[in-house]
Amino acid sequence: MASELHIQGVRKCFGKGDKAVEVLKKIDIDVAPGEFLILVGPSGCGKSTLLSIIAGLEEPTEGAIRIGGRDVVGVPPAQRDIAMVFQSYALYPTMSVADNIGFALEMRKVPKAERVKRIGEVAAMLQIEHLLDRRPSQLSGGQRQRVAMGRALARQPQLFLFDEPLSNLDAKLRVEMRAEIKRLHQLSGITSVYVTHDQIEAMTLGSRIAVMKDGILQQLGTPDDIYNRPANTYVATFIGSPT
Ligand code: ADP
Ligand code: MG
Repeated sequence: MASELHIQGVRKCFGKGDKAVEVLKKIDIDVAPGEFLILVGPSGCGKSTLLSIIAGLEEPTEGAIRIGGRDVVGVPPAQRDIAMVFQSYALYPTMSVADNIGFALEMRKVPKAERVKRIGEVAAMLQIEHLLDRRPSQLSGGQRQRVAMGRALARQPQLFLFDEPLSNLDAKLRVEMRAEIKRLHQLSGITSVYVTHDQIEAMTLGSRIAVMKDGILQQLGTPDDIYNRPANTYVATFIGSPT
């Protein structure tokens, strides 16, 4: 079931006293159930910090995070029902692809028969059925990325967080995986936040785009809004829209 995500007045400071640096400045974003939201902005603007706060790896200095109506600030990451996909998809090297995908289910004591069924479904979605017996070292970069997504999908999370998952892949594979991620989202309907610093990826993947700079949300809108009605010159320049 798809959950909504509310980010309300989120501030984050690192460091204390006069050395404190505010990297997120009162961020407000509402993500609708099943939406695929893009978070885009230059390196260092606070994108990963915001994802870490949603995932519970960092706590906000101020503000609220609600997932499916539940206030999750202070809730440990493992209890937030979130799956994250990073650029460095650390698969378990000694396990087969099937065991990599099923590991989280095993930890949750899901019975074997159900695990096997879920692994089969996820492998079919990702078209990696023929790879289930292989080890990660026997896979290409794109195949590993698929397995990493399979591992996240198998858990049927409430929320998917992607942090620049394609930035280690070559250009051709990136285009292919973009289409794959779009297809998977359409199939699974899981609410997703996808971070990128790539304008093209932002404009082609999301139903709405949040543009950030220096810890401030500059604009939140559809690709059409962002391109044709940029809120300020920064957004216009970043996206390359005609102003
Ligand atoms: P992005 O993902 O957009 O590139 P980050 O969220 O990683 O940006 O970082 C935003 C800013 O916060 C950067 O200036 C970074 O150096 C700083 N930062 C991130 N994590 C920490 C931390 N744990 N301690 C201190 N500063 C941090
Ligand atoms: Mg980052």
